[in-house]
Amino acid sequence: MAEKDQRVGRLTSQPHYRRAFVIGGLATLAGVLPRKSNALGNVVTPAHTDPTLWLQPRAVAVRNMDTGQRGDFVYWRDGEFVMAEYYALCALGLDHREHKAIQIDPRVFDLMFATQAWYFGATGKRTHHEMTSLYRTPKTNRIVGGAPGGGHPRGLAGDGRLNGVSVSVYAAMLRRFQAGGVGLYANHVHWDVGRKPAFWRGGSIER
Ligand SMILES: [Zn+2]
Repeated sequence: MAEKDQRVGRLTSQPHYRRAFVIGGLATLAGVLPRKSNALGNVVTPAHTDPTLWLQPRAVAVRNMDTGQRGDFVYWRDGEFVMAEYYALCALGLDHREHKAIQIDPRVFDLMFATQAWYFGATGKRTHHEMTSLYRTPKTNRIVGGAPGGGHPRGLAGDGRLNGVSVSVYAAMLRRFQAGGVGLYANHVHWDVGRKPAFWRGGSIER
C-alpha cells in the first residue's frame, strides 16, 4: 500500500506536472463550443450549445473499469481548478499495470464534463463515464498495442464509454467539440486533445 501511495504521489513531483498545468490553465475547452448539431438520436438538445456551460462547475462521474474505483469530482469551479479533486481524478486514471499516474491534460476531462452535461440536458438523468484507459506508461502502451506517439503516454487521451449512449453516439458527441482525435472502436471510444481534429474507426483492438 505504501508503494502505491508513493507512486500516485508522483503526481505533484513529476516535471510533467508544471507543463500540463500551464496547458490546462490556458487552453481548456472553454469557449470551444460544439458546432451546429446534427441528429444524435435522443441526445439532440440545444443544451449542449449553452454558452454558460464552461462557467459552470466542471463535475464528472467516473468509473475505472480496470480497478473498479469510482468517484464524482468537481475539478474546476469559479474560474479555478480545484486541485485536490483534479489530482484525485488523475490518480483514478492511473496506469493500473504499473501503478503510475501523471497529470492528465484537463481538456480530456473537459470533454467528459461537457458530454455528461449534454446527456443530462437531453435526458434529465445523470450519467458517468466507464473508463478503460487514461494514462498508459510507454511500456504498457507497447504491450496493449497503442500507437507509439499516441496520446495515452502523454496524458492527452482517454478511452471509454459514456454510460447510457452507444459508442457511435458518444463518438459523434465528442466530434462536435473539434478538440482533437476521436476513434470509434467496437466497445469503446478513444479521444485525445492537443492536435487537429481527426476521426477514425477501429476494430475491437486499439492501434
Ligand atoms: Zn485510446
